[in-house]
Amino acid sequence: MQTVTLNNGVEMPILGFGVYQIPPEQTEQAVTEALAAGYRLLDTAAAYGNEEAVGRAVKNSGIPRRELFVTTKLWVQDAPAEANTRRAVEKSLDKLGLDHLDLYLMHQPFGDVYGQWRAMEAVNREGLVRAIGVANFHPDRLLDLIFNNEITPAVNQIETHPFFQRAAEQDLMREHGVRHQSWGGFAEGKNDLFTHPGLGEIGRAHGKSVAQVVLRWLVQRGVVTIPKSVRPERMAENFDVFDFELTQEQMTRIAALDTGTTLFFDHRDPEMVAWLSRRRLEG
Ligand code: NAP
Repeated sequence: MQTVTLNNGVEMPILGFGVYQIPPEQTEQAVTEALAAGYRLLDTAAAYGNEEAVGRAVKNSGIPRRELFVTTKLWVQDAPAEANTRRAVEKSLDKLGLDHLDLYLMHQPFGDVYGQWRAMEAVNREGLVRAIGVANFHPDRLLDLIFNNEITPAVNQIETHPFFQRAAEQDLMREHGVRHQSWGGFAEGKNDLFTHPGLGEIGRAHGKSVAQVVLRWLVQRGVVTIPKSVRPERMAENFDVFDFELTQEQMTRIAALDTGTTLFFDHRDPEMVAWLSRRRLEG
């Protein structure tokens, strides 16, 4: 598996498996199948409610821990954020049945971000978490975090797909040593992505599907990607993107699909800020 090196030297697979919206009772099987298909990077979150199932699949796989790269995410915490963040890390480790995480992300740019980040820095220094990063941070918030804290996030996981490409943000992140990670790489199928004529044509030129073209395009941009599927044949398809290369002309054609705007929601929209900030996790 091709890897990227994060800003603290940690190696991360460039392609992994996401488990958002996989119901807990289906997650153990899905992750077991993903591991069998070759995935070694797993992306979950406390908010997905399926960390325990991910942990069971990891344990039963028998795959040595050092070969896996496990990411989970911190939800917005009540005050005092530092103490609660530490408790949240411990809870995630406990649910996953692990003694350390490879990457821990602040899931949302809300709440006492600084308090949460200081606690994340502390667990990083202690080795409970090999790398720390953020998700859904727009450039202004990301730079504020970078300039006013000690540790620069290793990763920013943001909505990124052919219709919302974030090339300028990627340049900025590269400049500051933050790795761009895509969530929703297929835009969850919105805009009829999987039957897009232009992407289909590029796929036919390589004997590949639209899904494979999209993942290959992300990989060639150096963007870490974590497609989700509950179907083993799609898991295998999505993993099989390392035996072809898009031409510069094809990359340029895909670049032209960018609309520069979200297909989901904007984390700067006041209604979304309120909705996400009010949500608290139980258990
Ligand atoms: P996605 O990967 O863009 O799309 C998943 C959808 O595509 C599912 O409906 C899946 O259906 C379908 N699909 C997968 N492979 C396919 C293929 N080869 N052909 C046709 N359809 C295919 O969506 P996502 O799950 O939202 O994003 C990926 C991961 O990013 C998540 O699982 C999660 O780990 C992470 N994420 C993070 C955030 C954040 O705020 N940090 C937000 C969203 C997501 P089937 O399952 O039926 O195959």
